[in-house]
Amino acid sequence: MSGLHQRNRPLAKIVSTLGPASSSPAMIKRLLEAGVSIFRVNFSHGSFEDHGKTVANIRQIEASVGYPVAILGDLPGPKIRVGEVPDAGFTVATGDLVCFDRDHDGPAAKKNEAYVFPTTYTPLGEDVDVGHRLLVADGLIRLLIIETSPERVTCRVTAGGVISSHKGINLPDTDLSVDSLGDRDRQCAAWAMHNGLDFVGMSFVRNADDVNRLRQLLKEEGQRCEPAREAMSIVSKIETKQAVEHFDEILVATDAVMIARGDLGVELDCRQVPVLQRQFLELAHGQGRPCIVATQMLESMIEHPTPTRAEASDVASAIGQLTDAVMLSGETAVGKYPALAVEQMRRITETMEAFMATRPSQASPPRQLLERKDTLVGLAHGVFTIVEDIHADLVAVWSESGISAQSLSQNDLSVPIIAMTSQEHVSRKMCLFRGVIPICCAQPESVDDLVAMVDSIAQEHGWAIAGDRCVIMTGKPVGRSGKTNRLIVHTVGGDVTF
Ligand code: ATP
Ligand code: MG
Ligand code: MG
Repeated sequence: MSGLHQRNRPLAKIVSTLGPASSSPAMIKRLLEAGVSIFRVNFSHGSFEDHGKTVANIRQIEASVGYPVAILGDLPGPKIRVGEVPDAGFTVATGDLVCFDRDHDGPAAKKNEAYVFPTTYTPLGEDVDVGHRLLVADGLIRLLIIETSPERVTCRVTAGGVISSHKGINLPDTDLSVDSLGDRDRQCAAWAMHNGLDFVGMSFVRNADDVNRLRQLLKEEGQRCEPAREAMSIVSKIETKQAVEHFDEILVATDAVMIARGDLGVELDCRQVPVLQRQFLELAHGQGRPCIVATQMLESMIEHPTPTRAEASDVASAIGQLTDAVMLSGETAVGKYPALAVEQMRRITETMEAFMATRPSQASPPRQLLERKDTLVGLAHGVFTIVEDIHADLVAVWSESGISAQSLSQNDLSVPIIAMTSQEHVSRKMCLFRGVIPICCAQPESVDDLVAMVDSIAQEHGWAIAGDRCVIMTGKPVGRSGKTNRLIVHTVGGDVTF
């Protein structure tokens, strides 16, 4: 195992989107070393062939570094996008006329006084009305619709900018009834299952039924895999008004949540984003669902080697709100400084966490889960109390299915949790849990063996030194689900028989 394995890594995880700037093996390695735990591939951009190469590169580097790395495949969802635009895009200015033509053939063009763009959504002209807003690239470029017909939507630019290929279009005033799980999404989800991805991101989720339908599809697809595999974990992207309204039921149905602030800030008003982020993090926490805060976290680093002060503050406040992970999008997919962006994100996270460690713990137990009076949930909460009371340095658990690791993580421990499993796919899934250091290794035969193993792994990697105290959650036999029933406080370097 590499010495770089998450030593002194922050508790919160970093998700990095791969794209043309970052899919090579050398760059993937640099990003991992800079602090990435999960790579995201966005099926909205690039081909299956490209993604296949990226996934192979990640797995090759994963094998060479020797620790688990997870991959999240993000489904396109029913997002309307601009079609092809020549070169670096067209710059439109306030007052310009822009048309979206249903039957436009080929890339965007300037005709007479107007720019004409193709779109991926042919019924556009039938759905929109005069006076509706049409926003491009996460709302950066703003247009007002002034004329519609089934063939053509004509708009006036109210805030200009560069419109380039495949940029997203949002219509916050229009009711669109397109399915969150269209044909293309089904194809991408099946591809993700067959190519061994670990998480699938569901875009524009509206309710629990959407999540359940995706889960069903993944189960069926898993049966067709060779060998058969379990459904991937679903990350529901919260970015529509409907998802905001149905957040509680989505939380029950999903495995994890992404606060997808790009589309969320356009579909709703941008000023609601900070409040929703905080509310959703709290609610997800109560249900024990891990959360990713995403979009524009270090946006200016697409072009510049340092973030703005506001961006540094944004990352730090998500960390202060105890998110499981923070995400980079364009910064690492197409930016000029992918590795620096990760490095900066990790440093901001470390600095914030070091500050938090000097203050009384903000942690709150996962309330809804505790109400179930479940043994595992209670034990994990007990670990939190012990860590605080004795100032333990480390927690360790054998978590064959990943559930014990998740339960511990839900308690916002202030120290790392070494979580071991013999299942490779489980070790990757654990990459998302705040504070969890996943390890894939052979299962120990007894509790004493487990303690001895934790003792040597912790010292070998520099996670603990002799005299540190480590709280170990286990059961007898080790690793049998439902048998977790003991907590051990072990002094590192000391006696390992219990
Ligand atoms: P989403 O709503 O799913 O986030 P997005 O268009 O905002 O979609 P991101 O994944 O956030 O896409 O990435 C930001 C930008 O980086 C994209 O708009 C696109 O220009 C670029 N990008 C991302 N992945 C790729 C890729 N594989 N190939 C080319 N460009 C990419
Ligand atoms: Mg985005
Ligand atoms: Mg989005």
